[in-house]
Amino acid sequence: MARKVLVLGEVRDGSLRNVSYEAIGAAKTVAEGGEVVGVLLGASVSNLANDLIQYGADRVVVVEDEKLEQYTSDGYAQGLLAVIDSEQPEGIIFGHTSLGKDLSPKLASKLDSGLISDVTGIEVAGGNIVFTRPIYSGKAFEKKIVTDGIIFATVRPNNIAPLEKDESRTGDVTSLSVEIKDLRTIIKEVVRKATEGVDLSEAKVVVAGGRGVKSEEGFEPLKELANVLGGAVGASRGACDAEYCDYSLQIGQTGKVVTPDLYIACGISGAIQHLAGMSNSKVIVAINKDPEANIFNVADYGIVGDLFEVVPMLTEEFKKL
Ligand code: FAD
Repeated sequence: MARKVLVLGEVRDGSLRNVSYEAIGAAKTVAEGGEVVGVLLGASVSNLANDLIQYGADRVVVVEDEKLEQYTSDGYAQGLLAVIDSEQPEGIIFGHTSLGKDLSPKLASKLDSGLISDVTGIEVAGGNIVFTRPIYSGKAFEKKIVTDGIIFATVRPNNIAPLEKDESRTGDVTSLSVEIKDLRTIIKEVVRKATEGVDLSEAKVVVAGGRGVKSEEGFEPLKELANVLGGAVGASRGACDAEYCDYSLQIGQTGKVVTPDLYIACGISGAIQHLAGMSNSKVIVAINKDPEANIFNVADYGIVGDLFEVVPMLTEEFKKL
């Protein structure tokens, strides 16, 4: 059954987040040959419409308003509801990001629909669109279908393949005028912690440090390795609690969930709460002095040794590639 499916393009610092392209990949499966429509909300975002089209959107609807410059759930809800009203889609896909996690349940409940969140796989089986999502902190997976209402789903970064970018693709870009009014929240100022380099939740390579890193300076060799591999630095809660790094780097049950192609755990014991945030990574390398450390039970490759010797050696070797 061909469907019309909307994809919210998520803009950060003037660019689209990678997960938006992955959401288009997901939407293509859900649409089953129907139309995939990108949606952009913001103050000045129409310049990004072609990006969505080159990654597979058939066309793009843009809602621009000064009040949408910063994300607020009621502002974005008003903008997206207006697009839904004019497009009457059968499905809407979001990235499973802070924004997607906040906005999608609000809209799904307003429109009397369910929501399948944190999707890691989508297939067409037995005439249904079947969504796979992890449960019990990634220890099991469940498969779900939508039987009623609009299909709302959020897709976990790094799990659904985006389409190849095709610069020759073209599509209509239309703007929809929406009066954004009565915002209950007005963002006066955004104060960001200085974060360097690649976004942790979308990184293809994560080099994470635990209490074994021993100090803030101890993270330096990990940063260097991450840099050489084009990846991001993450941490266990042990390292964050010890004030070796900021909590924004925490991975695990109460931190970020990541599924990179390569996860390098350095001086992390592998507590169950940490595994909840990284055990679905595609390849896991663990470096730990203790051969009995639990992290080796989930690792594809284990290196028993001192991280301060092993990490610089890896960096030097990767530099040669
Ligand atoms: P440790 O367990 O102390 O492990 C340090 C490791 O470093 C050891 O295995 C040691 O052998 C190794 N090591 C030491 N020196 C070196 C060296 N020079 N070279 C190589 N290896 C070395 N934790 C999370 O990570 N994320 C979460 O989201 C999270 N949520 C939690 C929620 C709750 C409700 C609770 C109760 C706990 C949570 N925790 C979480 C904490 C978790 O239980 C662990 O305490 C924490 O993950 C341990 O961090 P760690 O592995 O860095 O430290």
